[in-house]
Amino acid sequence: MGTGILTIDLDAIAANWRALARLSRGETGAVVKANGYGCGAAEVASRLAREGARSFFVATAEEGAALRKALGPGPAINVFSGHMASDTGLIRDHALTPMLNSPEQAARHRTALPDAPYGVQLDTGMNRLGMEAPDWGASRAGLETGPLTLVMSHLACADDPAHPMNAAQLAAFTKMTAGVSAPRSLSATGGILLGADYQFDLTRPGVGLYGGQPFAQARPVVRLSLPVVQVRDVAFGETVGYSASFTAGRKTRIATVSAGYADGLIRYMSNTAQLYANENICRLAGRVSMDLLTVDVTDLPEVPDHLDILCPQQTVDQLAEAAGTIGYEILTSLGRRYKRRYIGA
Ligand SMILES: *Cc1c(COP(=O)(O)O)cnc(C)c1O
Repeated sequence: MGTGILTIDLDAIAANWRALARLSRGETGAVVKANGYGCGAAEVASRLAREGARSFFVATAEEGAALRKALGPGPAINVFSGHMASDTGLIRDHALTPMLNSPEQAARHRTALPDAPYGVQLDTGMNRLGMEAPDWGASRAGLETGPLTLVMSHLACADDPAHPMNAAQLAAFTKMTAGVSAPRSLSATGGILLGADYQFDLTRPGVGLYGGQPFAQARPVVRLSLPVVQVRDVAFGETVGYSASFTAGRKTRIATVSAGYADGLIRYMSNTAQLYANENICRLAGRVSMDLLTVDVTDLPEVPDHLDILCPQQTVDQLAEAAGTIGYEILTSLGRRYKRRYIGA
């Protein structure tokens, strides 16, 4: 078989959710936007619903509609982008809960679907999504008389516990939501780890569920095994790959494996990232191409039929470092060509 095998451990995702739930004082939700951070929104959310999760979060109404088909009626499906102009049908037909981001969205939702539940997203300093304090002040009384299910905001710097933005946003959120009737939510993975003050009634972990930083105790979730297509010996001084960017400094054995930047293995990893044959490290030799990697396997006693690029020895965050990015981007870039296998479905 010529494609990589992506193994997604739903037992590990469930364990990570329970661990974050133990750290949280209120309810623990789950963020499954971007196809569950590349791991499969339907599979992840169905498993977490069985673990007891009742509140899910997605980025768009389209994602919410697909998730409702997977989950069936019951769990709340909250949409961060709120109620966009063309979302009314999806919100109504799939019982989605938009997080209203502006007075315009609030007016649209209350007019189009007067009885449909909604949340409100507040901006507490990130300046990305959410109502500013004056808009919230002006519309709060009206919004609190309807089926308001959640008031939320998002932290910009929660992965850095020492950052002064954290306390500033906590103070702003506390002030803006004082006396509010609905449940409150401020924290994603990073905010949960900042402690009880940041947790309010509902938390929204994403990346920590999928084994990523800043949740250092997370169990790894993904293994990516890439098949070896061909092995050759390269003489001292010969070069490998596009632009001849790797030159053999010794007699070198090169394994060509099936996966490349079209599968989310970012080209910036060229000549830098490592693959694993069990515990043995093998370095990329040359450029990442669209469908192939070339790997220095000279020091392996035997070349296996697969090499791992994500495994317990190399987490998404460690691979991200070789790619100049973050674990989130490694996860959400995981290619669609891989054969996906689930543990614990
Ligand atoms: C993506 C997102 C989350 C989840 O964040 P993680 O850092 O992955 O835990 C929570 N809330 C909002 C508003 C988000 O956009």
